[in-house]
Amino acid sequence: MSKVVAESVIRGAYDIFRQASDFLDKAVKEKGPEQKIGFPETAFYLPMANALLGVKIEKLKEILPLLEHAKSLLPKMPSDKVWLPYLGDALNAGMSALFCEEIIMALRYLYSEEPQKDCNGFFTDTIMRSLGIQLVDGRMPGFAAILGAAPDNKTAVQIIRELQERNILAFVGASAGGRSIIDQLLEENVQMGWDNYIVPYGRDTLSTIYPLNWAIRSALTFGGIKPGQAQKCLLYTKERVFAFGLVLGKLDDIKYATGAGAINMGFPIIADTDIPEIKPSGITTYEALVKELDHKKIVPRCIEVRGVKVRVSSIPVPVPYAAAFEGERVRKEQLYVEFGGKGGVSFEYLHTKNLNEVEDGKVELFGPDIDALKPGKKSMPLAIIVEVAGRKAQKDFEPVLERQIHRFMNYAMGIMHVGQREMNWIRISTDAYSKGFRLKHIGVILHAMLHQEYSAIVDKIQVKLYTQEEDVEKLLKEAQKTYDERDERLSGMTDEKVDTFYSCLLCQSFAPDHVCIITPERLGLCGAYSWLDARASFEITPTGPNQPILKGSVLDERLGQWKSVNDFMHNKSNKAIERVSMYSLMQDPQSSCGCFECIIAIIPEANGVMLVHRDYVGMTPCGMNFTTLAGSVGGGVQTPGFLGVGKLYAVSKKFILAEGGLKRLVWMPKELKEILGDKLKKRCQAIGEPGLLDKIADEDVATNSEELLAYLKKAGHPALGMELLI
Ligand code: SF4
Repeated sequence: MSKVVAESVIRGAYDIFRQASDFLDKAVKEKGPEQKIGFPETAFYLPMANALLGVKIEKLKEILPLLEHAKSLLPKMPSDKVWLPYLGDALNAGMSALFCEEIIMALRYLYSEEPQKDCNGFFTDTIMRSLGIQLVDGRMPGFAAILGAAPDNKTAVQIIRELQERNILAFVGASAGGRSIIDQLLEENVQMGWDNYIVPYGRDTLSTIYPLNWAIRSALTFGGIKPGQAQKCLLYTKERVFAFGLVLGKLDDIKYATGAGAINMGFPIIADTDIPEIKPSGITTYEALVKELDHKKIVPRCIEVRGVKVRVSSIPVPVPYAAAFEGERVRKEQLYVEFGGKGGVSFEYLHTKNLNEVEDGKVELFGPDIDALKPGKKSMPLAIIVEVAGRKAQKDFEPVLERQIHRFMNYAMGIMHVGQREMNWIRISTDAYSKGFRLKHIGVILHAMLHQEYSAIVDKIQVKLYTQEEDVEKLLKEAQKTYDERDERLSGMTDEKVDTFYSCLLCQSFAPDHVCIITPERLGLCGAYSWLDARASFEITPTGPNQPILKGSVLDERLGQWKSVNDFMHNKSNKAIERVSMYSLMQDPQSSCGCFECIIAIIPEANGVMLVHRDYVGMTPCGMNFTTLAGSVGGGVQTPGFLGVGKLYAVSKKFILAEGGLKRLVWMPKELKEILGDKLKKRCQAIGEPGLLDKIADEDVATNSEELLAYLKKAGHPALGMELLI
């Protein structure tokens, strides 16, 4: 390692240590040693310190030992006379820098100095969980932490667009020469936020700790690694979190020190300036510190150095197209035309036809295109009819394929798609229109993407678009009949009626021992995979993550245990799990990986359970908020009494059947009640408890067990009279 680099790293680490030490002194003097400290919505305290050292810092006085440890990692400055291998010292200094940066950020939160203007600040555990699926299914193949500023705004946008096109999540921040990439993107009106894969963290280098302490939490959340297992955590981030640092502009000592910390985690640094490189690999998969002076080549160079596996979709439309644009919104002021919503009738419908009835790639428009929009008008009717054919195509696949229309259309920059069926709402921006986007491009997208992702079951695809109101109304009636039939088919499916369940092993890329078992009456805990989806996925990729499990002989009907399911589980969980109950919370419950939509948790005082979804940030009657609760459930382990589940499991007939089913549910957030709406009411009626929904408490009436118990008694909740849970 270059002596120049080592000196900078160590000097920077000393500087950061001094800043942390001074700030802590001030805080202790002003607020007292007992003052509480921490980041918002995390179960991992100061996450870097918690993951690597196992410490749980909650008060100012508890920071002191951490600071001492950071100090002990600081090496002497390299001597001018003696040659030494500097790498180990520099890496220790980098680690010290990360601990001290985390201390400084926590102190800034104490003084309400974070998050900075237009920045996200600390990344919550909830965000990490909700992105889980995109991480494991490859939609989001990697992360870039960008520090500094590009030489000009145009280059900043070009780099960001290149990352977006590859679906790489970009954390943007820090500064160089008094400019931050955050402001460059703001000045160019680039939409930022999680949905756009561009997340501003802060304008100084110290705040780069946010993406880093987010990354280290994935080892605890998904990897099942215990706090304090430093080596395992660092190996996990190196092997499973495909992150890299991209430094734009001149490097200073603080950036070198922070970069050395990131290298400890296996994240290489790529700079656009003439720096000494660190070529040997080991700590990182390939080179640790490299330069690339050509901004046109810098993104591909980053991808190569980190070994990110990227899938680029090249779709012949006049706007950029990638999953990174999925969450982009088309606001009123950017709107050229809309369909559905308040803009009139609109629907989408995909159905199968015979092979000889479909001409592959044919896109037809019946009625005027969006060019014909009269001045002052902003809406049109629209029917999108997709007709597919294939030797392996089945009617059961139709809803699965139809649901992809939402995703595929949203990947186009400047196109917004919300909802499904006759509840869809589509917007096209003025920018997309002026780039040449027309209705036929919707057909082009759907044709290309259905082929790209579903070629195993679909051989031919044609798309028809209708914009005359009478055509749309007439065709909608026909589609409606099929929608109803599909609902009937899905709702009629039970675990008893099928002989095969499906596994999902997707999350093993993050939680190596976790296996989801998906049945008709219990969907995957992320909420993204139903039994039909898993079956379709198996047909499409027979060697993929969704494998069939023949049910065979039942071991315990009440618990929902089958011998072959247990055997499969034991085998695929790396022998970590021997038995799994599909219908029980208390005995051999399914493991939870980390990206669950909801958690079921026992409340012994109420002889019942609560259900909380990840968007609910308040306190729950079990004494923990979602974040804290989630911290003790994930990682691919079984935790009796606690269970990660998909939202819709709450309205399944098999909802914790072994414990008495829905009658055990005593608390859930109001918003979740609304989301489950009619389905939940119907289930209450079906179990002979039509008034149950009102008897289930929410945050308006109870946020602790005393309030909950008082409410349940007053409401006469059936759980109080049921057999004791424990
Ligand atoms: S079904 Fe289970 S394993 Fe599959 S992606 Fe969802 S949470 Fe992960």
